[in-house]
Amino acid sequence: MNCRYCNETCIRKGKQNHIQIYQCKNCLKYQRISYKYQSKLIEDWQIVQLTKEGCGIRSISRILNIAGSTVIRRILKISNALKRPFTILYGQTYQVDELLFTYIGNKNSRVCIAYSLNPITGEIIDLVVGRRNKRI
Ligand SMILES: [Zn+2]
Repeated sequence: MNCRYCNETCIRKGKQNHIQIYQCKNCLKYQRISYKYQSKLIEDWQIVQLTKEGCGIRSISRILNIAGSTVIRRILKISNALKRPFTILYGQTYQVDELLFTYIGNKNSRVCIAYSLNPITGEIIDLVVGRRNKRI
């Protein structure tokens, strides 16, 4: 067997759940000949598309046949790679408005949804979900 990362030869290095495990002689990575659970084949755009459709984490895991923890890990990876579309410039005038108050979980946890926009261009600069205090 050849390594899938560096294409060098691999040696047999034990079994895991009655399946032969191989180790590359060059890069020392462990691998199998074939994998039954292939979450690497799921692209990020599929998870983004299902999230846009309003699917939850458990429904995405059922549809794509991957684990829920994998869905959470991939969503966090995708969201950390996002960048803020606009930069807040010094000397500009911005307008802050509250959209609404709502409750998350129970009536004790009231949250505010507020946004800021540039009144000249109409571009929404930021959107914040949190308490209505200075510690948002
Ligand atoms: Zn290798």
